[in-house]
Amino acid sequence: MTPCLEFWVHCSLLELVSKKAVTAQAAAVAGDLVAAQSIVVLGSTGSIGTSCLDVIRNHPDSMRLHGITAFRSQPQLLEQSLEFRPCWAVLGESEPGHSADDFGETQFLQGMEHAERLVQEADVHTVVSAIVGAAGLATTWAAVDAGKRVAVANKEALVVAGQMITQRAQETGAQLLPVDSEHSAIFQALLGGRKQDLRRIILTASGGPFRGWSRAQMADVTPEMALKHPTWEMGPKITIDSATMMNKALEIIEARWLFDVRPDQISVVVHPQSWVHSLVEYRDGSVISQMSPPDMRLPIQYALTFPERVDCPGPDTDWTQTMHLEFEPPDLEAFPALQLGFDAAQHGGTCGAVLNAANETAVNRFLDAEIRFHQIPQLCKDVLCHHDFEPEPTLNSLQAIDIWSRKEAQRWTH
Ligand code: NAD
Ligand code: MG
Repeated sequence: MTPCLEFWVHCSLLELVSKKAVTAQAAAVAGDLVAAQSIVVLGSTGSIGTSCLDVIRNHPDSMRLHGITAFRSQPQLLEQSLEFRPCWAVLGESEPGHSADDFGETQFLQGMEHAERLVQEADVHTVVSAIVGAAGLATTWAAVDAGKRVAVANKEALVVAGQMITQRAQETGAQLLPVDSEHSAIFQALLGGRKQDLRRIILTASGGPFRGWSRAQMADVTPEMALKHPTWEMGPKITIDSATMMNKALEIIEARWLFDVRPDQISVVVHPQSWVHSLVEYRDGSVISQMSPPDMRLPIQYALTFPERVDCPGPDTDWTQTMHLEFEPPDLEAFPALQLGFDAAQHGGTCGAVLNAANETAVNRFLDAEIRFHQIPQLCKDVLCHHDFEPEPTLNSLQAIDIWSRKEAQRWTH
């Protein structure tokens, strides 16, 4: 059973709330002030990272930024350090420019290996995993290994090594809380029923900027066109993934591991308004969904405050206005990436790692104008079909297959 699911099966929401209240009471009795939750944000300069910092900014009494990381963008890391004064700031790549002295009280370190060590420190309570791509796996693993509460935005880590991450979390007591809006919605909707009564979960997809287009129409899509998402503002990689619907493919695998459901219990429906963030269907036909305006601050905040709900800086639904919500089946012919997600979830083993690595390479090659938009899923399918499948890989073999897939994807031509 996955740690996410454990909340669902063993604890009612009320039990969890009262457990937390008892803990707070005990701390108060001991004469302590209830300490603010100490949070590390991996990928603090990205779209999720900056939204997360906005949530923390809004809750200065209950949340404290303990550490941050970025790959490049040192000026932004410095700016965040001067505002929040975290204990440490880690930059992935060495960059000339500012010296460690510029960071004031914040310890400035270069190299992601420092972050792997620092997330495991005793005074870190929650780690927000918001690095993009498989590059986020090592730090996510380190946090899980140390038994932290991990708010997971970095879906690629779960796509590559979901089985191992969830298993390790069980062993260490780490809690995995979903940040992805669909998975947060499912997590919330699952609290309304029992596992044995679940029929399926239904992931909603906006359909991206090319909803309703044929494959032929998509042949001439440029990076500029694909980088414009109709409902969400996100980093470039996930924006391209949303346009190909590879994002939903990755989310199928993410859901399979987070909620320990069979791949055939996962469906996808296109919902262009991005207001209903996903749905859960029970055996009696009841469908429970979570809805809110498309703003990532809400699922990020819920992962930080669960099981509590607190005021959120994002917008509210305006119930005085007429609202139209549409749902339609996805077009699997126009968006073949989606089927790759179902297939990889079904086969398991090395499939997630291969699909992810091929896709990361294909997205970069598309952005560099080396391949065309509609070739992204074609490339991924070819790499997936030609790999040496391993049903029960180790972390080392996943790393090896990741490298192999990137090489194959890099030299792919059609
Ligand atoms: P982004 O590109 O805006 O930010 C990525 C962050 O990761 C940056 O801080 C960057 O410096 C850091 N980073 C990039 N490469 C790195 C590397 N090699 N090593 C260390 N750090 C590195 O991405 P994003 O849109 O914020 O997405 C982050 C993750 O959250 C992705 O896995 C994405 O799928 C997921 N997610 C994002 C959204 C969203 O609304 N943006 C929604 C759901 C899930
Ligand atoms: Mg999502």
